[in-house]
Amino acid sequence: MDIHSLPMHRIHDLLESRQIGAVETVLAFLERISSIDPEVNAYLATFGEKATEEAKLFDSGARQFSASPIAGTPIAIKDVICMRGTSTTCGSRILQGFVSPYDATVTEKLRRAGSIFLGKTNLDEFAMGSSTENSAYLKTRNPWDIGRVPGGSSGGSAAAVAAGLCAGALGTDTGGSIRQPSSFCGVVGLKPTYGRVSRFGLVAFASSLDQIGPITRDVEDAALLLQAIAGYDPADSTSVDLPVPDYRAGLKQPIEGLRLGIPRQYFIEGTHPEVEKAVREAIATCKNLGATIVDISLPHTEYGIAAYYIIAPAEASSNLARYDGVKYGHRAQNSADLMDMYRKSRSEGFGSEVKRRIMLGTYVLSAGYYEAYYKKASQVRTLIGRDFLEAFEKCDAIVAPVSPIPAFRLGEKSEDPLQMYLSDVFTLPASLAGIPGISVPCGFTSENLPIGLQILGPHFREDLVLRIANQFEQATDFHLKNPEVKGGGKCK
Ligand code: GLN
Repeated sequence: MDIHSLPMHRIHDLLESRQIGAVETVLAFLERISSIDPEVNAYLATFGEKATEEAKLFDSGARQFSASPIAGTPIAIKDVICMRGTSTTCGSRILQGFVSPYDATVTEKLRRAGSIFLGKTNLDEFAMGSSTENSAYLKTRNPWDIGRVPGGSSGGSAAAVAAGLCAGALGTDTGGSIRQPSSFCGVVGLKPTYGRVSRFGLVAFASSLDQIGPITRDVEDAALLLQAIAGYDPADSTSVDLPVPDYRAGLKQPIEGLRLGIPRQYFIEGTHPEVEKAVREAIATCKNLGATIVDISLPHTEYGIAAYYIIAPAEASSNLARYDGVKYGHRAQNSADLMDMYRKSRSEGFGSEVKRRIMLGTYVLSAGYYEAYYKKASQVRTLIGRDFLEAFEKCDAIVAPVSPIPAFRLGEKSEDPLQMYLSDVFTLPASLAGIPGISVPCGFTSENLPIGLQILGPHFREDLVLRIANQFEQATDFHLKNPEVKGGGKCK
């Protein structure tokens, strides 16, 4: 049996009924990582020994598979989330060698739920990017075509799930970094509502936007992984104290009678024709499932990119001020004085995209420019949020493409940051509004590249987004296709 091609809930069933062992499962994934990851480059670090030790506890009965619906299943964590005693690099030289002294709340919750951690996955440096090419360490490749990017910034997590190098993973989404790589890699990725999941122990990029969420093989797994990490956390003042529903229980409900809004601003010139076709077909599928399709307008969509690329760098410039070579992280040698040490440490430690964001952010916050840029962007953000609130009076959820284009070639956009920013056009508005969104596979291009369908819901309606995604997934078979990765044979 090919364990690595199964979703977490199936692996859990097999573990619980003792048809497979936990150690056997971990070893199957580790073996696959050693044969295939040199091709994909999804992992920055793996914890083979520790994972096997954990698995032994389950096989011996010291830990119970009944602890949670995901207990005993091996997962991967984006390397921007802290895990006690392991390195957290954020894909940056500045944090090379940094060992996290504590667990993020999500890591701790998953530990309690019985997750087995296989390793930490690659990302764009400090999660800034849309291709994972901004990592200081590795260029992750798309398992569907290793000449292409996996998307970003959670490209390592998405590629690892797609290639069967873990059963599920955590990513983070500030402006699309869970949804876009999930769509590029043909897996499911959910960005929760801002405040649904604790950010304690997540290294901050843009604190008013960052959220942690699941990247999985199917929607049921996304529901289970979200269940395990969601909820109020006194250690994160922006997490919200609202009850967490039973996400899996809600999946089975039909979508008949639901009103799905199609925003006209998400079907624009420049979108790849095969992407538009797949999304339109997906909308037809939802209609066949009994949903009512309504045209809606999100009039401020076109300002999303400008507003986001002011607000996110502004917050980043402040958040990244802490990397000065004093308390932790990279410190330059042979500095003349303290200022020289700061300057050299930061010059050597940060890559060019991070430096670009720090400069942009510092500029838009500086005296005289604050009103013209940061304040204006914040006002636009309010308008974008209002667009969604008004839309949700006419529809229950919104359906749209995730990205105007499928996975692009490595190097194709890395020399042109603006082109890279523009490709985030359909994911940024939901981030600015703080609403939940999912990417679910909805087709392939003629070059066999996956296409994702984006489903957005009102604040804290992850249950609704998951339910629509699940009904769509169950009516289609795109999520059942697997890529073939050279080096390890067929991912099947
Ligand atoms: N691509 C966007 C950026 O570069 C979003 C990144 C993210 O969501 N972390 O900022």
